[in-house]
Amino acid sequence: MVPSIGVDPFAETDDQQALRQLARGVAERSLAPMARHGDETEEFPQGSWDAIRAADLFGITIGEQYGGMGLGDIEAAIVLEELARADVSSAILAQLTFNGPPRAIEHLGSDAMKQRWLPMAAAGDALFCIGISETEAGSAVGHMRARLTPDGDGYRLNAYKNYVTGGHKSRGCLVWCRFPGSEGTKGIGAVIVDLEADGVSIAGTHEKMGLRATSEAELAFDDVRIEPGDVLLAGDAASNEAFRTLIGHINHERCGNAAMCVGAAQGALEYAITYMNDRVIGGRPLADLQGLQWKIADMATQLEGARLLLKRAVHLAGAHGTPPPLETAMAKTAANLAAKFVCDEAIQLLGGYGYSREYPVERVYRDIRGLCIGAGTVEIQRNFIGTNLLRGATPSGHAWKSTPR
Ligand SMILES: Cc1cc2nc3c(=O)[nH]c(=O)nc-3n(C[C@H](O)[C@H](O)[C@H](O)COP(=O)(O)OP(=O)(O)OC[C@H]3O[C@@H](n4cnc5c(N)ncnc54)[C@H](O)[C@@H]3O)c2cc1C
Repeated sequence: MVPSIGVDPFAETDDQQALRQLARGVAERSLAPMARHGDETEEFPQGSWDAIRAADLFGITIGEQYGGMGLGDIEAAIVLEELARADVSSAILAQLTFNGPPRAIEHLGSDAMKQRWLPMAAAGDALFCIGISETEAGSAVGHMRARLTPDGDGYRLNAYKNYVTGGHKSRGCLVWCRFPGSEGTKGIGAVIVDLEADGVSIAGTHEKMGLRATSEAELAFDDVRIEPGDVLLAGDAASNEAFRTLIGHINHERCGNAAMCVGAAQGALEYAITYMNDRVIGGRPLADLQGLQWKIADMATQLEGARLLLKRAVHLAGAHGTPPPLETAMAKTAANLAAKFVCDEAIQLLGGYGYSREYPVERVYRDIRGLCIGAGTVEIQRNFIGTNLLRGATPSGHAWKSTPR
């Protein structure tokens, strides 16, 4: 073989490899053994929470001054990939901390807000959730009704948020809402709500196909007092600037979503390869059948493509920036579709056993299916990619010869 003389631009540093090993150990020892139990019972994965916390992993993206490690999207993606390789429901707990409200508070919040919430998040003392979607405003988020009304020096919040991951177990919620005078996307901003406050109630949780250990809750906010210090980003009725900032910040979550898809699909692919090597049919292992080898080739190729797009997006974020929108949308789309394909083929390769709940691949398929909807559906990512390319945008490193609209 001709030796390779190139350098992998995304090669992991020694520290990143050590972090991967740490996360893999936690995932294999503590998450994998309980994954089926959480799926069957819908019990909150407390054992996973305790293990991630004991390994000090919750704080990796939070600044050192708040008790974290001050790392960025690359490291977040490494850990999420490893946790999801064992159990996606458990990985979501880390995703909410790495790429959810704590990250937004650190980038956009006041010093007092950071002091109040970030040490708690870094230590794994509390879960945080995100309240954006409403029953009438999912993809069409600009139609949201959540509203603040003036109340002395602060506000009162009235809102009903749907599909809030971990909302029933969280201490704090990042709520997107309208500031006074808001219409359309103008005037939409965000507040951080202490879920122990008067007026907050859990209206219910959804019964779902997958991701069953981390439920999605419906949260009602009934005249909840919002202090001036609870405002993360104020909406201005004359501008959609705050809304655009919030949308841009979701790129962290989208990369985390992609990382979980890559990790989950990796787990399914590895399981299928081992199974094909072990399973003997008519005197031959499945691995000898060329038609099935092609499936493995296609699964691995799609997965590697998605992994590379994700690596590009998180590397472009740099140590403390935000992943760029076009590259992020491409990474999320590719990872969602690759995971769907890989997990579906893994079921097929295991035959009847693939369809059985005693084997893990059908659970992984059900889990990643939810990730194709959360954090902006595949269709919404495609809308964004398509309209931007037609307006002349190109992904990083490319100069296309096309005429923009
Ligand atoms: C597992 C999971 C976790 C979630 N966690 C959270 C959370 O923590 N916080 C939160 O706020 N929300 C959360 N959500 C909600 C999620 O963000 C919404 O479900 C999603 O944005 C889609 O909104 P919708 O369900 O109202 O679907 P709709 O917006 O009604 O869309 C229905 C279908 O139409 C498609 N569609 C809609 N508009 C267009 C368009 N313009 N062009 C092409 N196709 C379109 C959609 O892609 C989808 O396929 C979660 C969802 C899931 C499944």
